Amino acid sequence: MEFTLSKEQLLIQKMASDFCEKSLAPLAEQIDRDNQIPAEIIAGLGELDLFGLPFKEEYGGAEAGYDCYVLAMEQLGKVSSGPAITISVNCLGLGAIDKFGTPEQKAKYMPKACRGEHLASFAFTEPGTGSDPKQITTRAVKEGDHYVINGTKRFISNADYLGPMVVFATDDESGKPTAFIVEKFCAGYSISEPWHKIGYRGGNLLDVYFKDVKVPAENVLGKVGGGFPVLTYGIAFGKVGISSVALGGILAAFEAAAKYAKEKTHRGEPIAKFQAIQLRIADLAMKYEACRWLTYRLGCLANDAKDPMLFAKEAALTKTFVCDNYVEAARIAVDVHGSYGLMNDYLVTRLYRDAILGPQVEGVADMQKMIVAGVVLNS
Ligand SMILES: Cc1cc2nc3c(=O)[nH]c(=O)nc-3n(C[C@H](O)[C@H](O)[C@H](O)COP(=O)(O)OP(=O)(O)OC[C@H]3O[C@@H](n4cnc5c(N)ncnc54)[C@H](O)[C@@H]3O)c2cc1C
Repeated sequence: MEFTLSKEQLLIQKMASDFCEKSLAPLAEQIDRDNQIPAEIIAGLGELDLFGLPFKEEYGGAEAGYDCYVLAMEQLGKVSSGPAITISVNCLGLGAIDKFGTPEQKAKYMPKACRGEHLASFAFTEPGTGSDPKQITTRAVKEGDHYVINGTKRFISNADYLGPMVVFATDDESGKPTAFIVEKFCAGYSISEPWHKIGYRGGNLLDVYFKDVKVPAENVLGKVGGGFPVLTYGIAFGKVGISSVALGGILAAFEAAAKYAKEKTHRGEPIAKFQAIQLRIADLAMKYEACRWLTYRLGCLANDAKDPMLFAKEAALTKTFVCDNYVEAARIAVDVHGSYGLMNDYLVTRLYRDAILGPQVEGVADMQKMIVAGVVLNS
């Protein structure tokens, strides 16, 4: 058991934190306000290899492992959730291609997305369902050497960037969900305006419309009718990213509350003198430490996940615990700020808006608990 970071881990953590401090922090409020990530931020993140940290160099990645990915994502999540979530979804899509793709698919779709020149998406959710693969209505019909896809996907991250999208559709041969790699903005692909969501602003969500989209049969990801394992594996690894973004948010809430407690005075003394404030700061410290080690552990487990179901359980329990704790941490940080915590001039309002999204994304919290219970009770 080792609780100190290696030289390489410290280096990547510092690289991400330097970028955040110098380049991202000055634009964080603008990103939140405009719901748009400036192109120079995407380019800067790409130069630092942050879009493809865990993936093999052969396919354009930095081969730094999920342990380093977690450390970098925590730093980004602490400063601005939009770019962090954009990377997280990119890695979710790429993770599925990396695991299930043929060498040709990986060579074709991974390098540009690892460099941030393209961004990957992962499209499962539909207007009718976000949690149940049996209910998806997007259809893929085989016609000769290609499939024709029709349907609507809802709340799809990164859908407005060029790059590969892993799309789940029920195919007419197997009658089951199959994963396809669709090139965004191909003929028949169109998107809605971005949804005006409460948090993670800058990480855009769009609806995607597939109208007779022709996809070559060689773009089936994994097996025909084998969409379910692609979905469960992809989302499990996606939770490494979302947990790290939430962890960064908890750290930001903790630091903001501690700073405010020392700065705001009552009768000439900081409010940190009140025991009620001290208890809240202690709660934040405990939440951060518990979530930190759980998330770092998940990064290490992701490097060597031999049993997909066991990893899915670890990812589900980590994501649920960390995201739920982020909601509580943000609420505590708002409380420490009194009424100032309700004003948009203060960082904690943004953290509160961000935090509330975590339990809903990449599998709603209750479904995660069902995954955990299913593995625990059946082993
Ligand atoms: C910021 C953000 C980014 C997103 N990015 C993507 C993306 O890139 N790709 C993508 O495909 N989707 C994405 N989504 C969509 C998201 O993954 C889904 O919205 C989410 O999985 C929940 O689906 P739903 O909203 O349809 O809820 P539902 O599945 O309808 O669930 C609604 C409620 O019913 C409960 N429930 C559902 N089924 C059961 C059951 N069997 N037993 C008990 N309770 C149940 C849930 O716990 C929940 O409380 C994103 C969403 C957000 C907010």
